[in-house]
Amino acid sequence: MTRHFDYIAIGGGSGGIASANRAASYGKNCAIVEAKVLGGTCVNVGCVPKKAMWFAGQIADAMKLAPDYGYNVVAPALDWGKLVESREAYISRIHGSYERVLGKNQVTVINGFARFVDAHTIEVDGERYSADHISIATGGVPTWPAIPGAELGIDSDGFFALDHCPKRVAVVGAGYIAVEIAGVLQALGSETHLLVRHDKALRQFDAMLSDTLHQLMQQNGIQVHSHSEVTAVSRDADGSLLLKLNSGHVLQVDCLIWAIGRTPNTQNLNLAAAGVEIDAQGFIPTDKYQNTNVPGIYAIGDNTGRLALTPVAVAAGRRLSERLFNGKTDEHLNYDLVPTVVFSHPPIGTVGQTEAQARAEFGDAAVRVYTSEFTAMYRALTSHREPTRMKLVCAGPEQKVVGLHVIGYAADEMLQGFAVAIKMGATKADFDNCVAIHPTSAEEFVTMR
Ligand code: FAD
Ligand code: NDP
Repeated sequence: MTRHFDYIAIGGGSGGIASANRAASYGKNCAIVEAKVLGGTCVNVGCVPKKAMWFAGQIADAMKLAPDYGYNVVAPALDWGKLVESREAYISRIHGSYERVLGKNQVTVINGFARFVDAHTIEVDGERYSADHISIATGGVPTWPAIPGAELGIDSDGFFALDHCPKRVAVVGAGYIAVEIAGVLQALGSETHLLVRHDKALRQFDAMLSDTLHQLMQQNGIQVHSHSEVTAVSRDADGSLLLKLNSGHVLQVDCLIWAIGRTPNTQNLNLAAAGVEIDAQGFIPTDKYQNTNVPGIYAIGDNTGRLALTPVAVAAGRRLSERLFNGKTDEHLNYDLVPTVVFSHPPIGTVGQTEAQARAEFGDAAVRVYTSEFTAMYRALTSHREPTRMKLVCAGPEQKVVGLHVIGYAADEMLQGFAVAIKMGATKADFDNCVAIHPTSAEEFVTMR
């Protein structure tokens, strides 16, 4: 017999859970199908364990500064096992809280891998379930290169499974994950190599950010190999890995981490049975309402090829449920001006257009750029000085702020409030009219001339 629901979310990650909980809050009979662990990428192998590792790196950094603040720090030793234990205990508590909220909302959780039977029916481990509305919120998995010996490496999931800090590590890739993992491992004590196939990492970000990060990663000890591609990997007699590079050089490390992007989880869902189209990369095209090409089937989150961020999946999922189940017929997520932080060392915060994008859209004459460079007081007291760099990109006669970019101490916690202002259409004059908070780094954004 087929069990019927008002709404089924395939995937118990950020988007699926958020949409099902919101639908259930309007009295709808909802189910989530999860093949692995509730919480999806973010909670289990993404944002949460990553941030835990980043905090550990921040503590290592703080211990370097401590002597200049008068502390007598004896050479600290990292107990990797304890770090992982604390991280995983925290994740277990999140699982518990998800289960409680889903239980309270009477959302049925079905464990197993879902496949479509038709546009309103799915099958999980031989059982059939139907729904008036089905969301595909299946996320993605790390992409692997097709080169000899690639399987000797690990991916970001494997990074979280490490039971020790690798002595020498090569991280391959140039996006968020490569930069974040390289920064963490370097801070925790690995000899870290970052291999990027072009000149620098984060090429799509404002050049001030990517150039500064390139400089600071090297200043902090990461060996950045520009224009480097791994062409083959083999294992040496001593167990280490030999990475053959396009330059002809061989790099010897103990651990290799692929961080070259992610592939949407859309291959084994039998989407053809429901008639749902995917694009050449496997992403599910959706309109602004998260509708796929099939009425009653929606896609949310990383598998749509839009911004792959947890709050984006959550916001899209909640808005979808508001539209479907709360009568808000035009409710949808506006994907413009989404703020984002890269948890590099130091962190990056960015929202809106890069300077280059603004110049291309508005023309040089209409764009005014304000910049600031200084050493945050936290480090200025110490011998470990490091620049903070900021940029405001303003456009048009009113000097509307169309982009805000920062790299440096506390950039991660600085961005959210500025993003609200920019989303509301703030101009440079609005920034100037706000009195500074002193002494902070963020105050520079309201005192730029
Ligand atoms: P997911 O969270 O990936 O959930 C999809 C779920 O669907 C998975 O649990 C999967 O098992 C399940 N599934 C797949 N197929 C099926 C099926 N057929 N049947 C049943 N279940 C299925 N974002 C941020 O905003 N901030 C960060 O700091 C951040 N850090 C990250 C760090 C890393 C290392 C990674 C990999 C990602 C990070 N992200 C971060 C991105 C964030 O994790 C994703 O954008 C977010 O998890 C996407 O949510 P989702 O619902 O689309 O998919
Ligand atoms: P990204 O798409 O961000 O970056 C991957 C990069 O790797 C590409 O842009 C490319 O850069 C480079 N690359 C691609 N193929 C190869 C290859 N064959 N060899 C070497 N380099 C290659 O992917 P990530 O996996 O880093 O992250 C996925 C997404 O998850 C992010 O885009 C982000 O949305 C989200 N995320 C968010 C985080 C946060 O909010 N802090 C943290 C982590 C992930 P190039 O073309 O310059 O070589």
